[in-house]
Parts: sequence; structure tokens; C-alpha cells
Amino acid sequence: MDEERIETLIRELLVEIGEDPDREGLLKTPHRIAESLTFLTQGYRENVDELIHGAIFTQELDNMIVARDIEIYSLCEHHMLPFFGRCHVGYIPKNNKVFGLSKLARLADMFARRLQIQERLTEQIAHTIMDSIHPYGVGVVIEARHLCMMMRGVEKQNSLVLTSSLLGSFQEAHATRDEFLSLINRPRTI
Ligand code: ZN
Repeated sequence: MDEERIETLIRELLVEIGEDPDREGLLKTPHRIAESLTFLTQGYRENVDELIHGAIFTQELDNMIVARDIEIYSLCEHHMLPFFGRCHVGYIPKNNKVFGLSKLARLADMFARRLQIQERLTEQIAHTIMDSIHPYGVGVVIEARHLCMMMRGVEKQNSLVLTSSLLGSFQEAHATRDEFLSLINRPRTI
């Protein structure tokens, strides 16, 4: 990414929306935006293989593992405005292959730090887990608020968008699906 080029473009953008990029408060804004955009889109410069390397462990586990309330912050690809919320991930390991818990959060961040739609973000997380450790099943649910809906457009401040991707036994077995949904919906105890 060429941050200097982004700074130039942001300066032009400021002029276009009627601002004076030379006034004191805006002098460093192009630089700040370039830095912030670099961070918010760093998922483009990371790849799944590198992240997965070192994320997979062998452990004798055959019950459902759920990591819930993983915070996510992303940018919608239609408006480049933030959407943010929580991601819940569950899977049932097969052949004792488990995915490191902190790496689940890293995985969510990697896909969130790209221009996204919530539906695709949900699927990418689910499919990456499925393809990397081949568990019996995977479930991913994301609940998020979209600033493009809250600040503009329909201006619905309280709407929450829910997306899910259920694969393998999470899709086929009612009991598994119900267990996952009840675990992610139970009140927080800590
Ligand atoms: Zn949007």
C-alpha cells in the first residue's frame, strides 16, 4: 500500500466535500487516515495459510468447543462505513484436531479487516475452520450493527443484523445445532 498516494487522495477528497485541507485541524488528517486505512485493511496483506500454521493442535477432545463474543470491527464494502459486533464460533473436533482459541479471534480479525459484507465474513470464518481441521461440524454466528444503516439510508439505529453459517453436523443434526445456539444465547455468567 502506498500511504503517500492515499494521503494525496484524501487531501483531494477533503477539497471535494467542501473542506480546506490546509486548516490546522485537518493538516494531519490525510496522514492519519492513511495509517488508519492501512490498519483497517491489513487483512488483505495476511493469508490463511500463514495464520493457520501453528494454529492447529492435537488434543483429545470430542465435545463441542465454543468461543463466543469475539468482537469484530469491519468495513462494509458498499459504503466503507464500519459494521461491528460479536462473532460466535463453535465446532466439534474430529481426530483430536483443534484450532487454537486465540487463533480463532485472529482468523475473525483477518477477514474482518477487509472490505466485507457480513454474510461473506461469516462464511469465510466457517469454511476456513472446516477446511483446516475438518471437524464434524462448524457453526459461526455474527451479530452486528452497520453504521451505513444507522447514520444514513434507512437510519435504523436499533437494527441488529444476524448472519449464520452452519456446516457439517451443525447443519445436519438438530441436537448439535440446538446445543450451539443455546450455548451462544445463554446469559453471560462471568
Ligand atoms: Zn454499507
